[in-house]
Amino acid sequence: MAYEFFNDGTHKCIRFDDLTSENEVQTNQSLIIHGDRGVLLEPGGRQFYSKLVAEISSFIPPQRLDYIILSHQDPDVGAGLNGYLLITDAKICFPSIWLRFIPAFCTKSLTEDRIISVPDRGMRLDVNGAELILLPAHFLHSSGNIHVYDTVSKTLFSSDLGASLIPPDQHYTTVEDFDAHLKYMESFHKRYIPSGKACRQWAAMARQLDIERIVPQHGAMFEGKEMVARFIDWIDNLKCGLDYVTEGGAYRIPPA
Ligand code: FE
Repeated sequence: MAYEFFNDGTHKCIRFDDLTSENEVQTNQSLIIHGDRGVLLEPGGRQFYSKLVAEISSFIPPQRLDYIILSHQDPDVGAGLNGYLLITDAKICFPSIWLRFIPAFCTKSLTEDRIISVPDRGMRLDVNGAELILLPAHFLHSSGNIHVYDTVSKTLFSSDLGASLIPPDQHYTTVEDFDAHLKYMESFHKRYIPSGKACRQWAAMARQLDIERIVPQHGAMFEGKEMVARFIDWIDNLKCGLDYVTEGGAYRIPPA
């Protein structure tokens, strides 16, 4: 169901969280609208392309999308991109180190003059007068990963950082009890986020932003300053990925 979590009359943020089937990894797609122009974040896989186009159309004609932003190269982030290249003139923002992967899931001729290579240091994007900041979030989890900070709604779209895998029968959109929510985040972060060092540096950057909510690509969002602070503190102290790789322990040839 479309969930509009910000609307000041000019600027809107909408999240779509139920386009995947129960046996697939659940993903969130987000739409930012400023005036009569829009930005789509993490368009997702091919399997729900038509459903998402219909959902977007109930808020804004897809032809008014100026940008489509992919945080990293994973198929659940952007395998459905080709369809949007056909029906919109939107520019595609993609981390620079993954640019060469785009032809693997798009018709190359459609991408000509439409790709914005997001440099490692990040960049700023003007959307019809509203500013988005594309932030470096490398190694969280992809080696070239970006997050998106919307300066108007003060929302941080955090890609796989903060992702939770909530069983469908327990589904909730917004985290109400951080401690109870941890069980849906912990195993994902331990395995998919490679480095506690990267987490600590990200936390230091995130503390410099005025954040009202954090919207990950999977699972529930964190609403309000208190919940945002709890999440950043948790990430700041997270042990994950390589922190669990002990000398000689992780790589062994399986026995015959
Ligand atoms: Fe991913």
